[in-house]
Amino acid sequence: DTKTILNFGSGPAKLPKPVLIQAQKELLDYNGLGISILEMSHRTSDFNQIINSAESLLRELLSIPANYKVLFMQGGGTGQFSAVALNLIGLKEDRCADYIVTGTWSAGAAKEAEKHGKVNVVHPKMDRYTGIPDSSSWSLNPSASYVYFCCNETVHGIEFNFIPDTKDVILVSDMSSNFLSRPVDVSKFGLIFAGAQKNVGCAGVTIVIVREDLLGKALKECPTILDYNVQAKNNSLHNTPPTYSIYIVKLVLEWIKNNGGTDAMNKLSKQKSSMIYDIINNSNGFYSCPIDVSCRSRMNIPFRIGNMEGDEALEREFLEGASKLGMISLKGHRSVGGVRASLYNAVTVEETQALATYMKEFLHKHL
Ligand code: PMP
Repeated sequence: DTKTILNFGSGPAKLPKPVLIQAQKELLDYNGLGISILEMSHRTSDFNQIINSAESLLRELLSIPANYKVLFMQGGGTGQFSAVALNLIGLKEDRCADYIVTGTWSAGAAKEAEKHGKVNVVHPKMDRYTGIPDSSSWSLNPSASYVYFCCNETVHGIEFNFIPDTKDVILVSDMSSNFLSRPVDVSKFGLIFAGAQKNVGCAGVTIVIVREDLLGKALKECPTILDYNVQAKNNSLHNTPPTYSIYIVKLVLEWIKNNGGTDAMNKLSKQKSSMIYDIINNSNGFYSCPIDVSCRSRMNIPFRIGNMEGDEALEREFLEGASKLGMISLKGHRSVGGVRASLYNAVTVEETQALATYMKEFLHKHL
């Protein structure tokens, strides 16, 4: 074993160690077949077993109702920004969609949707993303084809802890960065998507959960590979899927199940994030998190050091010191600066404790 690394990256992010060990064990010879999954046709019964068990594990972990399809797609979260609009904006004749824009990723999704229909941002534009505008101030359009929101803004660290009430309008959510970190009532959504590379696997596959009755209404110009109906009819095997990424997803889902499922992940995520927020809150302003307390993310914790705007020299010193201790990928997103600790499912309480201890020591050194 080499130097112990504590990976607080925002994605692609840490994978559970047992998953990597299992993948390593099976890399050269999968299931006694004498070949690697990397070399195996997606039309084999062995691969079918992998994709089918990934689906059934996911159905079990999230209690996905039978009238929802589970798809494994390519193109990442960004591909879904387009796919959502291409498949759903035509559900109603007006081709309008409502977007709740609380950060970089929902803003990106709204921008893509504008290529295919009319986009209404339901609240006044924010100068800085620091919270979720109060839902009483949203102007929702009852004839919108859907309402879209990003459940956890990875860059800003803003997380919804409620499901927006959209009356009868279909609700769509990007759960890329908090997927499977807590239970979710799928029946409240028309569609949920999540890129795998944060909480459920490695880059290359994006999971889509979509209600059956919304299929088959894609715009004419929708590329075949982004058409949910085509993917649903072909068990996500219309063309070559990202086979190895789907296999890793299967291993991570098994790991989540063996570790108590989404309830356990939820409990742990609250425990881990509180350890870091407590230090921020009790640091007399030395550490500051700009996000409203009511919607601070359990997954991504952005903070500044020294003052609200961030003392860049101090932040550099913090990151260098962390790196010497093996704590990596703590740098904030280039658009917001500062520090960001991502605490996805695979990050342990012990690793979080190590970061908390370092933050306390750094604080005392600079008091
Ligand atoms: N949505 C969210 C919430 C994200 O965090 C990201 C990526 N960090 C994306 C979408 C875009 O995903 P991708 O890079 O897979 O296109």
